[in-house]
Amino acid sequence: MPTDPIAPAHRLGPDDLVALARRTDTPRSCPRCSALHRPGWESLPGSFDRRALVRVATLRDEGADEPTLQEHHPNGTHGWSPDAPIALGYFPYNRCDVWKCVDCRRTYLRYTEYGGYYEDERVRLVDPALVIGVPDAR
Ligand SMILES: [Zn+2]
Repeated sequence: MPTDPIAPAHRLGPDDLVALARRTDTPRSCPRCSALHRPGWESLPGSFDRRALVRVATLRDEGADEPTLQEHHPNGTHGWSPDAPIALGYFPYNRCDVWKCVDCRRTYLRYTEYGGYYEDERVRLVDPALVIGVPDAR
């Protein structure tokens, strides 16, 4: 069981992520991060105060040269689905760092999507029920 806070370089497995996501201080709404209380991926709102989140761990494999773009949707979900599984070895989870709200300690995943003409910071609240353990994509 990892200690808390976790060193930034620590790469979490699915069980670690579930344990972390369950460790919130309160189920109540939180004024600092309520703008992010959506189940699927969202663009980080420009008005969001980034100081509300601290990075606690990563899902990235620092040794992987080119993390896969393959997604994992065994039940017909897609990347934006609120109920899409959080499959750690697959896109975009293999590019994510793990963040916590400084007040309520809700757990979020964040990564930056690089398009041809834009960069988009994306964020997703971690629902422990959606975290699945599957072998990494090849
Ligand atoms: Zn919060």
